Amino acid sequence: MTATYITTTIPYVNARPHVGYALELVQADVLARYRRGQGDAVRFQSGTDDNSLKNVLAAEAAGVEVREFVDRNAQAFVALGDALSLSVDDFIRTSLDPRHQPGVERFWRACAAAGDLYRQRYEGLYCTGCEQFYTPAELRDGRCPEHETLPQRVSEENWFFRLARYAEPLREAITAGRLHIEPAGRRNEVLAFIDGGLADFSVSRPAERAGGWGIPVPGDPGQVIYVWFDALCNYVTALGYGSDDAAFRRWWASEGDRVHLLGKGVLRFHAVYWPAMLLSSGQPLPTRIFVHDYLTAGGRKISKSGAGAAALEPAALAADYGTDAVRWWLLREVPRVGDADFTVGRLVARADDELANGLGNLVNRVVAMIGKYRDGRIPDPGPVPPGGEDLNAAIRQAGERVGAALDGFDFRQATAAVWAIADEANRFVNRVRPWDLAKAERAGQAPARLDAVLGLLARACSALGRELLPFLPDAAARITRQCTPRDMRLPVPSPVFRRLAPA
Ligand SMILES: [Zn+2]
Repeated sequence: MTATYITTTIPYVNARPHVGYALELVQADVLARYRRGQGDAVRFQSGTDDNSLKNVLAAEAAGVEVREFVDRNAQAFVALGDALSLSVDDFIRTSLDPRHQPGVERFWRACAAAGDLYRQRYEGLYCTGCEQFYTPAELRDGRCPEHETLPQRVSEENWFFRLARYAEPLREAITAGRLHIEPAGRRNEVLAFIDGGLADFSVSRPAERAGGWGIPVPGDPGQVIYVWFDALCNYVTALGYGSDDAAFRRWWASEGDRVHLLGKGVLRFHAVYWPAMLLSSGQPLPTRIFVHDYLTAGGRKISKSGAGAAALEPAALAADYGTDAVRWWLLREVPRVGDADFTVGRLVARADDELANGLGNLVNRVVAMIGKYRDGRIPDPGPVPPGGEDLNAAIRQAGERVGAALDGFDFRQATAAVWAIADEANRFVNRVRPWDLAKAERAGQAPARLDAVLGLLARACSALGRELLPFLPDAAARITRQCTPRDMRLPVPSPVFRRLAPA
């Protein structure tokens, strides 16, 4: 059985989650559910990055003790599991999880033993938002390209990691496809960054500047481990690196697939720093990295705080419009490359068009017609009826098309393959008009025709229940319930989706 390990990034908990982060969670969940359905052994992991200086500053600004502040916000991230119907297997909180600190310390020692850590005085421009140093050339008008804030000038003595040493092995792993980065534009961006020359990067901070928050450097308690070094280690510490070697061997040091999902802003950390750290510590690299772009909301950059932030919390959206509608919008409208703009209006329109009117209406009509014309018994489908060829093809090809699309992390293509079944089925109903066939049948004409039509439509609905499972697990279960006979008969039709917009 193939072992597949799928991770999301672990966000800072300086504020509550927003809809942009829900995108990554839902994408990872779809992959995890799909792979499980294919018979893989899957471990899907998420978590929170508790040890960030950003959290310390946010807690101070809120006038709350850091531990209390971090715990409170982390809970909001944990709660997304239910709100978005996520099939998370493991959730790591870096400040609390007993597996984390010993693993980070072991990782640090492994890099030190490889001769890759050294102390040096450093002066540079630091963005606290990113928790990273920038060279003047990387800034935009002197400001952080990510946060558009002015960086601080910081001068201190830190531990450094010999990144420069890994330029060649990294380039080789990426070009040979052992470390596969999607989309290709992001892969090229990483290669260009490597070709531009890799500078060693600082991997510790004075404990004093970090407010005493974070993991002390082994053997040098005046320094804490840089939060990115600490956070990236979560991908292996949660697997038991430093605490349970059997689990670590199964999920990381194995032939399996190790997949990281992340946003474009943290590409360099995941595709350069992290693989270099792994090479230094003698561990295998992730096999695949998928980079998503960002969501905007109503044309604006989404911020975790500020006006309207509460209304953009994924849990609030799921409570108001339903988990299926939120997931469907994220999967159907966000392109594989390029930003997407979220508005509640778009979410509602998409859900009503495709879920309530398209899918829901179809299942409802089919179950009702089988009830009315065949007393709830699904007729033997027999050969494909005339006019049903396109629908039959959509059903037969859906599985393969979904698999190919998800292999390329194209969630829009994948959901389009499922949607095609509903679309073709609705077209088929309107074309063959089963109610006219029923009338003809009552007049003593062509009874086999209606059997073939209803049989094919029943197959379409069952296929929808099956193929939707990774994307809309809750709705898929409702559809399957509607299409599964009990005592030979389909249940009474009941709506699979509610309409969200007032009629
Ligand atoms: Zn920044």
